[in-house]
Amino acid sequence: MGVHFVSWNYDQMGIVATLELEEECDNTVAWQRFYPDGTIALLPLNNKFSSLVWSTTLHHSKELLSLTEQEFIDKLNESLWRTSGKNFIVEESTKAFDQFMKVLNLSSTKERQLPPKIIRCKENSRASFPLGFGHATNYVMKGAALVGDAAHRVHPMAGQGANLGFGDITCLNEILGEAAYCGSELGSLLYLKDYETRRQRRNVPTMLAIEGLHRLYGTDSPPAVLVRSIGLQAVNALQPLKGLIKSFAAS
Ligand SMILES: Cc1cc2nc3c(=O)[nH]c(=O)nc-3n(C[C@H](O)[C@H](O)[C@H](O)COP(=O)(O)OP(=O)(O)OC[C@H]3O[C@@H](n4cnc5c(N)ncnc54)[C@H](O)[C@@H]3O)c2cc1C
Repeated sequence: MGVHFVSWNYDQMGIVATLELEEECDNTVAWQRFYPDGTIALLPLNNKFSSLVWSTTLHHSKELLSLTEQEFIDKLNESLWRTSGKNFIVEESTKAFDQFMKVLNLSSTKERQLPPKIIRCKENSRASFPLGFGHATNYVMKGAALVGDAAHRVHPMAGQGANLGFGDITCLNEILGEAAYCGSELGSLLYLKDYETRRQRRNVPTMLAIEGLHRLYGTDSPPAVLVRSIGLQAVNALQPLKGLIKSFAAS
């Protein structure tokens, strides 16, 4: 289509795998552990399995992929459960903030939750993908429209890539329906431009928010860690704000 695509690489790989949990449980919580060089995410599949997305540096990803499956699982459990390297001031401040929330009767952290322990990864399920950011300045031309990752590519840390693509399809479907209803050509720019405007209004702010989060979580500088930790605690405690973010992410 000859459209301009603004893009850059994160110099990171996303390692994926299907993981078997130690115990069958009510596996409905997604877990993320943030390190300055990447994020480990466990996404529930069913009561016994979760899907892994481990984003990390090129060098570390090569190391992880060269491990045997058992060594890989040991490394993963160690990285999920590691407690060393935490900043004392940040830890104490977040505890104090939690107490403050409890006094206001706002804390929703009723009990301490712990991530599941992984026992093995499904044979040959480990794979890796390069991670990058990209956005097409135009999504349409006469007779053609870009959807999904062809139009926009984001870091997987927020788990929003596929959702944005589903949103594109829903919107394009509606707009083509309108075009057909009005007796217009399906490829007419008059309608396709409306798709582009509507989706860019939705996609660009989401992409910028993800990029902001990626930068905020890409550092272990104590002030940044403190801001993001307290920010997350506040969002968790303020149910209306949490609900708003959840409904925006799912829309
Ligand atoms: C590691 C990782 C983890 C992710 N985790 C999440 C998550 O938790 N939640 C979420 O919402 N999103 C996630 N995403 C993003 C999500 O995977 C993508 O947004 C989504 O797959 C994009 O779908 P798509 O159909 O637009 O493109 P793709 O899935 O890239 O599909 C495009 C297809 O077209 C094929 N193709 C390319 N060129 C040609 C050609 N010339 N001819 C024929 N075929 C061609 C490709 O081989 C591919 O199969 C993740 C991405 C990565 C890399």
